[in-house]
Amino acid sequence: MLIKENSKSLFQKAQQLIPGGVNSPVRAFRAVGGEPLFIESAKGAYLFDVDGNSYIELINSWGPMILGHGNEAIEQAVIEALRKSPSFGAPTEAEVNVAELIVEMVPSIEKVRMVNSGTEATMSAIRLARGFTKKNKIIKFEGCYHGHGDSFLIAAGSGVATMGTPDSPGVTKGTANDTLTAPYNNLEAVEALIQKNKDQIAAVIIEPVAGNMGCVLPQEGYLQGLRSLCDSHGIILIFDEVMTGFRLAKGGAQELFGVMPDLTTLGKIIGGGMPVGAYGGRKEIMDWVSPAGPVYQAGTLSGNPIAMSAGFTMLNHLNSHEGIYSQLDKISERIFHGFQANLKAVSKNYTMNRIGSMISLFFTENKVTDFESAKTSDTELFGKYFNAMLENGVYIAPSQFETLFLSTAIDEKIADLIITANLTALKSIDGL
Ligand SMILES: *Cc1c(COP(=O)(O)O)cnc(C)c1O
Repeated sequence: MLIKENSKSLFQKAQQLIPGGVNSPVRAFRAVGGEPLFIESAKGAYLFDVDGNSYIELINSWGPMILGHGNEAIEQAVIEALRKSPSFGAPTEAEVNVAELIVEMVPSIEKVRMVNSGTEATMSAIRLARGFTKKNKIIKFEGCYHGHGDSFLIAAGSGVATMGTPDSPGVTKGTANDTLTAPYNNLEAVEALIQKNKDQIAAVIIEPVAGNMGCVLPQEGYLQGLRSLCDSHGIILIFDEVMTGFRLAKGGAQELFGVMPDLTTLGKIIGGGMPVGAYGGRKEIMDWVSPAGPVYQAGTLSGNPIAMSAGFTMLNHLNSHEGIYSQLDKISERIFHGFQANLKAVSKNYTMNRIGSMISLFFTENKVTDFESAKTSDTELFGKYFNAMLENGVYIAPSQFETLFLSTAIDEKIADLIITANLTALKSIDGL
C-alpha cells in the first residue's frame, strides 16, 4: 500500500527536490497565500487530495478535462493503446485519424502537425511564420500567454504576471527586440506598430478570447480588424487556441467569431488529459514544415500513440455530441447569474466576464477589456476569496488572472453547490 503523507509534508519534501516544489509555477499557490494541495485522484466533477478532502473541480487540469474526470471511453482507448506499446517513434494510424478530425473540426486548418505541449505549438508556429514570410518580428498582446518560449516572455501574463516579473532572466535582448507588444482590444496600437516596423512583422499572435489575464473577450470587430490589418501587410495571423480550441465551440473561437487565422495553435483539450499540442493552418504555409519544406521542427514522442488515442477519443466525443456546447453554456450561465446575485447580496459591484464555459470574477468595479483594466483587481482580496472557496469545497485556479474551466460533469445540482459556496465565501471575507 502507498504511504499517505499529507500535502504539507509532501510539499516540504518536494521543495528539497523540485524548484519551488512544483513543476509549473502557478501550482505553488504563491499568488493566493498558502500551500498547494497534493492530489490523489479525481472522478467526474470532484477532486480528492491526499489528506482525504474532496473538492468540486473548476480547474480541470487548466482546461483539458472538459468532460470531467474518469471518462470511460478515454480510459479504455488509453489502455488499448498502452497494450500495443506506449511508443514507436514511427507513423501510426491514430495520428492520421486525429489529423483528419482536427481538419474537419477547426475551420481554418487544412494541415496539422502534432507536438507535445502548447508551448511547443506556439514556438513552432512563429518559426514557421518567420520562415514563410522571411521577416523577423512578431506582435503579441499584453496579458496574453503563449507558453514559456523565449519570444513570449516579454511582458507575459498568467503566472509571470501574478508574480510581478514581467521579463525572465535568460531571455536575450536580441529575442526581446523581435517581440513587439500591444494592448489587447486596441487596433490603433497594432496599426502603429506595423507602421513603425514596416515590412518587418512576420506574425501577429493572439488569444482570440484571452483566458490568461482572466477571461477577456475581444470587442466587436476587433478580430476582424486584426485580420484585415494582417491581410493588408502580408502578416501571418496566428490564433493561439490552446485554451479556446474545442472549448468555446467544436471549431474554437474562430468558428464562434467567424474570423479565420492563417495558423492556429492547439493544446490542452486536444490530448484528452495527455501532454499534446498541435499547430495547423493553410496548406500553402504548413507545407513549409519539414520534411515537406525547409522549416525544421521535430519530436521524438510527437504523435505518441497513447496521447493520440486519448485525444482522438476526446475530439470524437466533442464532434459527435451536438449538445455539449449548449449544455456547457447553460451551466456556465447559471453559475454566472448565481455569482452575480451573490455579489448583489453582499453589495459589491465586481466585474464578471463570461463566454461559453469560461468565467472570471474580477475583484474590481472597472470593466475588464485588457490587461491594464484586469490589473485594477484587488489581488489580495482574490487570495482571501480563493482560500474561502477551498474551505467551502470548491477548487478554483489560484490566481486572479485565470478563468474558471467548467466541465460537462457539472450538473445543475453541482452548479448550485458552487453558487452557495461562492456566497458563503464572499460573506466570510473581512474587508469586503
Ligand atoms: C496553456 C496555454 C499555452 C501553453 O500550453 P502548455 O501546454 O502549458 O505549454 C499556450 N497558449 C495558451 C493560450 C494557453 O492557455
